[in-house]
Amino acid sequence: MTSLPDLSETQIRRYARHIVLPEVGGIGQARLIAAKVLVVGAGGLGAPLLQYLAAAGIGTIGVIDHDSVDLSNLQRQVIHRTGDVGMSKVESARRALHDINPEIDVRPHAERLTEGNAEHLIAEYDVVADGSDNFATRYLLNDVCFRLRKTLVSAAILRFDGQISTYKAWAGPEHPCLRCIFPAAPSEDAVPSCAQAGVLGALAGTLGALQATEVVKEVLGIGRSLSGRLVLYDALGGTFDEMTIAKRGDCPTCGDSPGPAA
Ligand SMILES: [Zn+2]
Repeated sequence: MTSLPDLSETQIRRYARHIVLPEVGGIGQARLIAAKVLVVGAGGLGAPLLQYLAAAGIGTIGVIDHDSVDLSNLQRQVIHRTGDVGMSKVESARRALHDINPEIDVRPHAERLTEGNAEHLIAEYDVVADGSDNFATRYLLNDVCFRLRKTLVSAAILRFDGQISTYKAWAGPEHPCLRCIFPAAPSEDAVPSCAQAGVLGALAGTLGALQATEVVKEVLGIGRSLSGRLVLYDALGGTFDEMTIAKRGDCPTCGDSPGPAA
């Protein structure tokens, strides 16, 4: 066994089930504690994602969301409680995460992610997890994370279907980005929203927990990254599938001769 760097007795007890894993150990746990992760959206995906990241001891967790808690959120956004309705989502999330793990620093950003603030916000973090619900944010994160060389773990859910991948196209030719799959964002009305089409509550839990797993893997550098693969989950069929994604030479973000982003 290696030594346990900079871990208190309390931390050794709290994170014992991680530390005993050879792939994590004391050094890996110290790395999780030192990590800074930004979660975009404190909604369906963000709820389990934030809870597992906090429990895992990710030392700095940023959460960005401009919305407040609505009664219709509670069917899947399990970080919020009935008594939180009307409260800012980032404040509700901050309180919940503090209850899970008071040792971590939660930074609430009660604003919308825009072209104007994205670089400034993202620059402070090591890994970004996208649990947003719209294409504009999804593509903005893809482009800004590429420019700033940040790993992006991105998931999406609708009805009974979920998908997840990791983007770090800056890392080399074998790593594609979101625009390598779909070069331009579809218009917002081309695909229905969860509000219009519905979403199974527990599906958010499945995909959000997968996202937390991938964030932890990326921080620790263990296992096989989802970069280059899109994993698809069909809740009704009870099946997982995966698609290989290749980098496009003409990708507007990460290609050899990137044009203006659409
Ligand atoms: Zn690309």
